[in-house]
Amino acid sequence: MDYPRFTKDMRKTHTILIPSMLDIHMQLFENVLNISGYHVEVLHNEGPSVVEEGLKYVHNDTCYPALLVIGQFIDALNNRKDTHNVVLLITQTGGGCRASNYIHLLRKALIKAGYEYVPVVSLNASNLEKDSGLTLTYPLIKKVAAAMTYGDMLMYLRNKARSYEVKKGSTKELTTRIVHELSDQIAKNKGLSFHAIKRNLNYIAKEFDKLDLDLSHKKPQVGIVGEIYIKYASLGNNSLEDFLVSQNAEAMVPGLYGFIFYCLYNQIYDYNIYGSGLIKKYVAKFIIKYLERRENLMIKAIQKTKFTPMKYFKETKELSEGVLSHGTKMGEGWLLTAEMMELVEIGYGNIVCAQPFGCLPNHICGKGVMKKIKEIHPNANIVAIDYDPSATRVNQENRIKLMLAIAREEIKPDEKAKI
Ligand code: SF4
Repeated sequence: MDYPRFTKDMRKTHTILIPSMLDIHMQLFENVLNISGYHVEVLHNEGPSVVEEGLKYVHNDTCYPALLVIGQFIDALNNRKDTHNVVLLITQTGGGCRASNYIHLLRKALIKAGYEYVPVVSLNASNLEKDSGLTLTYPLIKKVAAAMTYGDMLMYLRNKARSYEVKKGSTKELTTRIVHELSDQIAKNKGLSFHAIKRNLNYIAKEFDKLDLDLSHKKPQVGIVGEIYIKYASLGNNSLEDFLVSQNAEAMVPGLYGFIFYCLYNQIYDYNIYGSGLIKKYVAKFIIKYLERRENLMIKAIQKTKFTPMKYFKETKELSEGVLSHGTKMGEGWLLTAEMMELVEIGYGNIVCAQPFGCLPNHICGKGVMKKIKEIHPNANIVAIDYDPSATRVNQENRIKLMLAIAREEIKPDEKAKI
């Protein structure tokens, strides 16, 4: 097909725009790509114009995350002086879900909006869009994996601490400081080896352990699950984490490691169930081992603090067995179920399942398994919240408040917080 390509020469002249999703991770990924020879900028434009642009150029039957990502790109282009030196980066999962096709929707939208000359680059591990100037080399994957490890660790501890901080804003201050320190290291090509990661993770754990927290009263502990974009992006979920904290609750979002492990295990299941992709299976096994060593460092570092660590993904995966088949792998698939089970087991019995409009996998693997999860964990307090352009924030927040009211009834007056 004839569309503008991102060539290797453009690395020096063009800025790659990335849609926002996870605030901490994105800052680190931005640095990793910048030291790897690219000019990268994460988008932060929000507001009604993003949804308006999305609605203008994407069919309203399409998944809500596609509408937001494309709307954010077009809105950013509309507000840029020079649009001839930018490239748009979009991820493709490579599975059967519509996320693999967002790139085509984006190209179509760019033509309609008059930006047909803007190249789109795909970030994927499935060998899609092979002519792209952005190649996932081993050194780049190693750097991204290090950034992801730091991102998950910081996000986890920030979420654990922020609702109990004695000095308002101290958790945010600490997180920002550490992100800057890590970014400085990454800019110097440091902090990326296994030993450097171990040292940094222990340092992060120690710094968070020093935070002054008031644990005298338990707060409702709420886990957030759902389609990856709506789960993580404040633009997609109307700043759900901040809302929960403002309601005197503790909010927890499972890390990005889970999604990557899920995608890798799916390569193994593809071979086991359908008999295809033997090489992919072995590559997946190798990467799983690689990531498990780093996951272990994270959990070991947290174990030395007052915080309870997350589960090893292997355990999380096992929790979904008997609830949903591991052959269910469209969208978030069995991961969504596994994350709900994990959250309940580590104390987050109250769950918001964030469901984007147009997402069939989310409705099946989220809403569809709630009954079964409640049979296993009768105290699980799960609410499914729909996110779409016409859903009002007030309506979403009122339903969450109702869930929080039920959660508060379960807390004894003198019960202390366990983090
Ligand atoms: S997971 Fe849901 S929202 Fe995401 S691409 Fe698939 S169908 Fe769309």
